[in-house]
Amino acid sequence: MKPLLIDGAWVTTAHAEENRNPSNTSEVIDLYAHAGRAETQAAIEAAARAFPDWASSIPQFRFEILNRVANELIGRKTEIGTLLSREEGKTLREGIAETERAANIFRFFAGECLRQAGELLPSVRPDVSVEVTREPLGVVGIITPWNFPIAIPSWKIAPALCYGNTVVFKPAELVPGCAWVLADILQSAGIPKGVFNLVTGKGSVVGNTILEAEDVEAVTFTGSQGVGSHIAQACSRHMRKLQLEMGGKNPLVVLDDADLDLAVDCAVDGAFYSTGQRCTASSRLIVTEGIYGRFIEKLTERCRTLKVGDALDAGTDIGPVASAAQLETDLKYIEIARAQGGNLRCGGDLVKGSNEGYFLQPALFTDTTNDMRINREEVFGPVASVIRVRDFEEALAKSNDTEFGLCSGIMTTSLKYASHFRKDSQAGMVMVNLPTAGVDYHVPFGGRKSSSYGPREQGRYAAEFFSTVKTSYIRA
Ligand code: NDP
Repeated sequence: MKPLLIDGAWVTTAHAEENRNPSNTSEVIDLYAHAGRAETQAAIEAAARAFPDWASSIPQFRFEILNRVANELIGRKTEIGTLLSREEGKTLREGIAETERAANIFRFFAGECLRQAGELLPSVRPDVSVEVTREPLGVVGIITPWNFPIAIPSWKIAPALCYGNTVVFKPAELVPGCAWVLADILQSAGIPKGVFNLVTGKGSVVGNTILEAEDVEAVTFTGSQGVGSHIAQACSRHMRKLQLEMGGKNPLVVLDDADLDLAVDCAVDGAFYSTGQRCTASSRLIVTEGIYGRFIEKLTERCRTLKVGDALDAGTDIGPVASAAQLETDLKYIEIARAQGGNLRCGGDLVKGSNEGYFLQPALFTDTTNDMRINREEVFGPVASVIRVRDFEEALAKSNDTEFGLCSGIMTTSLKYASHFRKDSQAGMVMVNLPTAGVDYHVPFGGRKSSSYGPREQGRYAAEFFSTVKTSYIRA
């Protein structure tokens, strides 16, 4: 059994859960400890005890630990990427790339330990100066989803530690393996006891204990809207700082003047890579009349050639869906789209792999309208739909006509339309001639409307959530 990490010690539990390979459901990857309320509470108390020393530790100390984590992640990227592909199902290429991303995030925040500047301002009063500085918050609860099992935990844990907070980390039940490796790496890198705690287990038990604990000062969450709203309610009861990253229904607009091949490449990548299980996936393809026929023909051709299979096979383009529950959701939405009049141009059927797994041929719907459920609700699978529009104005209006606002994209060779779209798109992130999915690690990440709540993640903007501002007035 892979144990919990509480107060610097590995702790086994009476109950353990297995995680299985979605490319081969008979393969058990490992057994992971399942924390109850008592273990979670012990982790929170350990983090609270460890906070004063960590908060006042010198930046060089924190830099060295985070930098060692980055080095270890890079050095073991193939091994960790392979584990990631086995437990989550993205292809090995994607698994390794995600591990590299995690390493880069730790490296970035290692540097940020040494770059925590404040501001010095003259006061409006004589002989007084004003200093604005940032201070750590305390214990941060980190709750993450299954779809980026090493990158999302990293982009929360690294800044939390960098800015002097201590951490209680609860990963998604589906992917305890990557979380455990990260905990092991932090432990070997010399993180002091109690500063980082791993509690694998159920959202309803571990997650809720974190939400109700007195000692937790802030909660950062990535996951579904439903759980996000539950977390928001719990945090508001305790007046606790909160950061939520949730779903998307991201539009990729393709205009008549787009480079056709590039548009098809970006649509395939954005909609279907990582099995479409990305909050930034291009699930709505909004295409103007002049290019519609050519775009659909070429995109359909490409979709038919996508090879679905075992995440670790070299020739695989699209790995399995991550779980039986997610596969059921994908199939349900395919049926809903059909029933509401969508035309299934290709895919949408189960594929037989070399082993029993959750293999689904990416589904492409045409003849859909923006009010259909397939275009309103997040599927979180390899399912994309095309909406035909007259012109740029209609494309922009349709792309903004959604409750979500995470990411949007446009394919065009026109500076005019690219500039208008960038300015008027109601999304936190906008892509011009790029897939909606795939972002840099050193710049802010997050959305608007129902997609996000609270300060941005990543880059220097992460300081906004993971620290609090102090304004000091000094009379000389
Ligand atoms: P869920 O919301 O189901 O779960 C997310 C996390 O919350 C898991 O660790 C889960 O634990 C935990 N949780 C569940 N119930 C509770 C509870 N009552 N209290 C506290 N924690 C709880 O999301 P998924 O894991 O299914 O991930 C998919 C979702 O994540 C999609 O909606 C996707 O859009 C979103 N996402 C958003 C991103 C963004 O940045 N905007 C990026 C990536 C994904 P357990 O696993 O035990 O249920």
